[in-house]
Amino acid sequence: MLQITNLDTRYGPIQVLKRVSLHIEDGEIVCLIGANGAGKTTLLQTISALVTPASGSITLNGQDITKADPVRIVKMGICQVPEGRQVFAPMSVRDNLILGAYSRKKEKSHIELDVEEVFDLFPRLRERSSQMAGTLSGGEQQMLAIGRAMMARPKMLLLDEPSLGLAPRLVDGILATIVELNKRGVTILLVEQNARKALEISHRGYVLETGRIVLQGPASELSQDSEVKRAYLGKDYKEVSERST
Ligand code: ATP
Repeated sequence: MLQITNLDTRYGPIQVLKRVSLHIEDGEIVCLIGANGAGKTTLLQTISALVTPASGSITLNGQDITKADPVRIVKMGICQVPEGRQVFAPMSVRDNLILGAYSRKKEKSHIELDVEEVFDLFPRLRERSSQMAGTLSGGEQQMLAIGRAMMARPKMLLLDEPSLGLAPRLVDGILATIVELNKRGVTILLVEQNARKALEISHRGYVLETGRIVLQGPASELSQDSEVKRAYLGKDYKEVSERST
């Protein structure tokens, strides 16, 4: 579905992505793990055309989208849920959702139905439909950010750190929703600091280190890889290995 080949992205003199190649098949959940500053967000921004790559190519179902503009990317079915949620604070929950359908504004009759579908997915948002988005809790804002992206009827969601800042109980809820969206046919590229949880729900994964893909494979294999365990599965892994010795 999505094919990225030898992508270089730079901010002025600083090269952040270095010959990144990856692919995502229709129906997959693929996670991208890596330390702070590795370039994960930059990769999502480059796919969304919010940042222009210096070289390399991105194709969606065989069509070259390397030089597409962000609105066209959304219209072609790729929608990003940015890190830090970034909801429109002074607007109501419902209006935030309606804004998510911006790229389809000609289909007004369907938009209300889609708002209801998001409310079915996140009943908490239905209860708060007229509340100002800025006054929602962190978990509720994350639900709204995902719901808003769903309003564009994406074929592929790019999720940037959906668990960031959430209590463990809420993290599990958000990840379960991602799995549910995937079951409904949405392909997922998931950027997560919480590598353990990300690998648990993903089919495949990539490890990005200082702008380069250094490891890739089925999620079950990556979660057994000694380097991944040491660098990304951290404290939990040590506790488990200490218990087993
Ligand atoms: P984190 O997990 O901390 O969010 P990340 O892997 O998503 O990190 P990026 O946000 O892609 O990393 O940043 C990669 C590098 O690019 C960092 O060194 C960052 O300082 C730099 N960078 C990001 N955005 C810009 C920008 N707009 N201008 C200049 N440098 C930038």
